[in-house]
Amino acid sequence: MGLPHGLTAMPMQIASILFTVPLPEPFDYAVPEGMMMEEGSIVRAPLGATLRTGVVWALKAGDAYPRERLDKLKPIAEVRPAPPLRAPLRGLIDWAARYLVTAQGNLLAMVLRSREALEEGPFESLLQASATPPAKLTAQRAAVLEAAHQPIRRADLSATTGASAAVISGLIKVGALDVMQVPVDQPFATPDPHHAPAGLSPDQAAAADMITDAVATHSFAPVLLDGVTGSGKTEVYLEAVARTLAAEPDAQVLIMLPEIALSQAVLSRIEARFGARPVEWHSDVQSAARRRAWREIAAGRARIVIGARSALFLPYANLRLIVVDEEHDGSYKQDEGLHYHARDLAVVRAKFEQACVVLASATPSLETAINAGQGRYQRIVLPARYGVATLPEVELIDMKVHRPEPDHWISPPLRAAMADTLARGEQSLLFLNRRGFAPVVLCRACGHKMKAPDTDSWLVEHRYARRLVCHLTGYSIPKPDRCPQCGTIGGLTSVGPGVERIAVEAAETFPQARVAVLSSDTVQGPAALRAMIEAMEKGEIDILIGTQIVAKGHNFPGLTLVGVVDADLGLQGGDPRAGERTFQLLSQVAGRAGRADRPGRAMIQTHYPEAEALQALVRGDRDGFIHAEQQGRMAMGLPPYGRMASLVIQGQDPAKLDEVVRAAGQAAPHVAGVNVWGPAAPPLSVLRG
Ligand code: ADP
Repeated sequence: MGLPHGLTAMPMQIASILFTVPLPEPFDYAVPEGMMMEEGSIVRAPLGATLRTGVVWALKAGDAYPRERLDKLKPIAEVRPAPPLRAPLRGLIDWAARYLVTAQGNLLAMVLRSREALEEGPFESLLQASATPPAKLTAQRAAVLEAAHQPIRRADLSATTGASAAVISGLIKVGALDVMQVPVDQPFATPDPHHAPAGLSPDQAAAADMITDAVATHSFAPVLLDGVTGSGKTEVYLEAVARTLAAEPDAQVLIMLPEIALSQAVLSRIEARFGARPVEWHSDVQSAARRRAWREIAAGRARIVIGARSALFLPYANLRLIVVDEEHDGSYKQDEGLHYHARDLAVVRAKFEQACVVLASATPSLETAINAGQGRYQRIVLPARYGVATLPEVELIDMKVHRPEPDHWISPPLRAAMADTLARGEQSLLFLNRRGFAPVVLCRACGHKMKAPDTDSWLVEHRYARRLVCHLTGYSIPKPDRCPQCGTIGGLTSVGPGVERIAVEAAETFPQARVAVLSSDTVQGPAALRAMIEAMEKGEIDILIGTQIVAKGHNFPGLTLVGVVDADLGLQGGDPRAGERTFQLLSQVAGRAGRADRPGRAMIQTHYPEAEALQALVRGDRDGFIHAEQQGRMAMGLPPYGRMASLVIQGQDPAKLDEVVRAAGQAAPHVAGVNVWGPAAPPLSVLRG
């Protein structure tokens, strides 16, 4: 029976579509008859004057829709050839948009980062010998067909056989070679969970069992894997990954690392353990690799993904386990563009996926420690270093008492310890979280300090590059011969140390030692970084001087002495997490000393030996430190006991800015439980003008 005239045009279905543009909510469209889609389908639909990519957020029946609005709906243009976004990921987007106070469309844009993954192809043509041999079979033709017994690129075929273009074209023409269109993106090598298992210690095996059990529940299971540096956390979570992959043929695992560029060691360990490289996702991955990774992850074939923050937003088909390694690391927090904390979102993603999330650290963040303490997260403890390795002994050097010579920064006790270490043929590491040669350059005659023209910060002297550099904007100039203020020649003097200056001092003090500097200026690119780390591992460096790059995850068997040049750097400034950060960073650095059978020693130079973070380090009392911090934060209503929001107002006219800022301060609502502070000038008030 035909429908009454006029109803035939009525769409059967309405789709609410969320676009990848900063819009707060989905819009309704008509689903053309015969177009197949489901919730999560990736489509293109008209928005304004253009067709845009979006995702079907909801499907509704057309008959419940008000007639007059129905007629105005535009139709969806097409469904893209990519798998639909699954409900857990859509749920994460909805949740995160509210939590992060941003448009849903902004989050969707992060998910659909690889535009090319949503297209067909690209394809390439490959040649393969067909079942019909040519009537005339010359020796050369036979060689070509032999080489093409499996699919091969035309260029490779002529290169391997020396056959001319005419010979190959001739074989195609007579039907002896088939031309096939094959997708360029091929699946990644599959990791083998049984490739090279580690023999775990009883503690490690127990920890791996607990994580495996948590994964097997198929429900949200947050876990803190708490173990000192070198206790085998990586070994344990890799075992849990192996068992997860072995138990479920389509399970996927995400391993998050704070800085992928620094994580070559973990990448190599994964490759050695599973016989295949994990799929990488971070800002250095180029667009073709990104397209392939996105597709393979969405198809569920990429099984181990190793990534930075943004890997959280990938369209996993069946994500069973997320590992957040070094969960306390500050670089998990993204402070530009979309502000989010990847560790927190990892937990939320696991919740939507009903999956296990392992937060691994030797120095858990206060937030995580509190969650574990209150029983919201399961705590799994690895109590000791693997094997016979013991934790280093930590000593504080009071710089008010043990003064170095003028323009020197290595105190006598540290110098003596370095000499002993060198004499034993062992390695020292000096840590200073400051790049360059000297943080300030000033004129001895007039006191003028060299400053960036458009930014409110001192220029840092880089001796290797012979330039003065602004670390905030990258602005740089050659170091001038005369003071730009008073014109005195040769009056500019370098004040304070950076790693380059400590290297000069170390080389002067120990002329026989091999000294190297590891910082982002001296080692450029992952390959150079790996080379220096390998040189250190092989004992080709006696004294390594480094910024925080050296703090992470490396394993130097010959390193027995760690000297912290200036522990006070991190304690200054207004960040409520300054104490926590200092504690974490210094315990990571100190933890580098002593592995295997050689005990290590860590010496920390400070003007404030009474500081709680430093005292706790000496006592080896991490939990005592966390407890004290917790009490302090609670008393002050600081996170995680209170939430803070900052309103940043910027402008180029100081008088006008002042006026607006004051008005904003006065307009702030007076609500019980909300304290308004300020207005106040930020620590750095001029940036790029
Ligand atoms: P963490 O991640 O806690 O710092 P790692 O997993 O990196 O610890 O282990 C520290 C060192 O000890 C590494 O060199 C690692 O290979 C070694 N190690 C740990 N557990 C084992 C084990 N069960 N078998 C062999 N080596 C191990």
